[in-house]
Amino acid sequence: MKLKILMVASEVEPFAKTGGLGDVVGALPKALVNNGQEVAIIMPKYRIIPEKYVQEMQYLGYIYVDLNWRHQYCGIFKLNKDGVNFYFIDNEFYFGSYKLYDNYDLERFCFLSKATFEVAKFIKFKPHIIHAHDWHTGLVPVLLDNTYRHDSFFKKTKSVFTIHNLQYQGKFDIGHVKDMISIDDRYYNNENVTNFMKMAIINASLITTVSPSYVEEIKTEAYGEGLHKMLGDYYYKLIGILNGIDYSLYNPENDNYIYKKYNEKNYLEGKQINKQALLNELNISNNNQAPLIGIITRLASQKGIDLILSVMEELLQQDVNMVLLGNGEYKYEQSFRYFESRYPTKFKALIKFDNVMAHKIYAGCDLFLMPSIFEPCGLAQMISLKYGTLPIVREVGGLKDTIKSFNEYTNEGNGFSFTYYNRDDFYYTIKRAFTFYNDKPVFNKIIENGLKCDFSWNQSALKYIEIYNKIIKEK
Ligand code: ADP
Repeated sequence: MKLKILMVASEVEPFAKTGGLGDVVGALPKALVNNGQEVAIIMPKYRIIPEKYVQEMQYLGYIYVDLNWRHQYCGIFKLNKDGVNFYFIDNEFYFGSYKLYDNYDLERFCFLSKATFEVAKFIKFKPHIIHAHDWHTGLVPVLLDNTYRHDSFFKKTKSVFTIHNLQYQGKFDIGHVKDMISIDDRYYNNENVTNFMKMAIINASLITTVSPSYVEEIKTEAYGEGLHKMLGDYYYKLIGILNGIDYSLYNPENDNYIYKKYNEKNYLEGKQINKQALLNELNISNNNQAPLIGIITRLASQKGIDLILSVMEELLQQDVNMVLLGNGEYKYEQSFRYFESRYPTKFKALIKFDNVMAHKIYAGCDLFLMPSIFEPCGLAQMISLKYGTLPIVREVGGLKDTIKSFNEYTNEGNGFSFTYYNRDDFYYTIKRAFTFYNDKPVFNKIIENGLKCDFSWNQSALKYIEIYNKIIKEK
């Protein structure tokens, strides 16, 4: 049966993205459509959406969406891309700023969640499944249960909610939430603070997270962000499906952003050219034979930034080159700027979000650092593998599911890993990678092991289709 799936998210690549959430919601629908399903996506029409896409959009009309006493304009624009219909919600007051996330998030995302249902009716898309992503759309399963279930249009609709990152839960003062939406008091669970992530977990027909390891980890106190007991109670509707990579965007063979395209046959030459060109562009010309280490990340403690900072001094005294591309917490931005000023010929800190530069770094580096405290899935390590750049990761969440540490006795493995969040273990693992970097036949073997890995979306999309089909049969 061809399913009608309505997705809603706060960010979708290539229109607007700050991290993996955008990548995933950009890629999964395409894979679902390629497997015979029908998908419509609803997202905000942010000001930062590139003009070339805005030009392609078709204006369908407008409706009004009510948030209690607020009666808000909601323009609807459509764009078809790769067989997927995207619907953009237009409201300058909510989405007209240049920032994706802002101080008005409660009201904006209440608006997005409510608009999802109203827009579905406007475009006459009667979904079997509404699939919402992360706390921004956590109200969607609640609104379906409380309000729209009584509308014959959504009578048979089931909801799926995906946790991309449990750390961000969307907690708001209950009074403010009640000022936005009218739902039965029982949804507030007698609590003073409204937690959108928690509400979604309780009310969605099914919860998914983005890797099999993370689904186990979040049931423990260490990784459950305060929700571990509840997640344990709902184990029967919790499933981990590994994210994939959109290889039409991340493939050195047809990547227009990198200096020289390459594939698994000519990667040695291709990577060498990319490395030299990147070193030239960054103006770090210490020694082009030394390993070049890359980091592309949000600068948040989750990503193991403190661990990275703790090894920087010792690392930069070695024969290495290093580049960091990232933005986020000011203290981290400043710390990396400090190391750049201290070691200007060896280290470049690019404090910004820059997609083109990200591709150049994936292609030009030898090693990639990702020592996360927790990692729901992580895409950067999988992208690195595709570009022949060996990841050094901590064995946690999706990193554990995708990177196998190299075993010199069996020649198996696609990167380097360590278990404990500990400076010495991390530094030792980097040094271990350097040892193999100086033993080129072995290093190239590990690169080839990585190039052979297939993390395309197809397998994951089939799993989503399987669970969608399962829940629509449930009462
Ligand atoms: P998370 O979603 O937790 O931020 P992921 O590894 O799942 O981490 O996804 C991060 C995505 O965002 C990757 O595609 C990565 O290349 C990209 N990214 C992160 N920081 C930057 C940046 N500063 N500039 C460009 N791309 C970035």
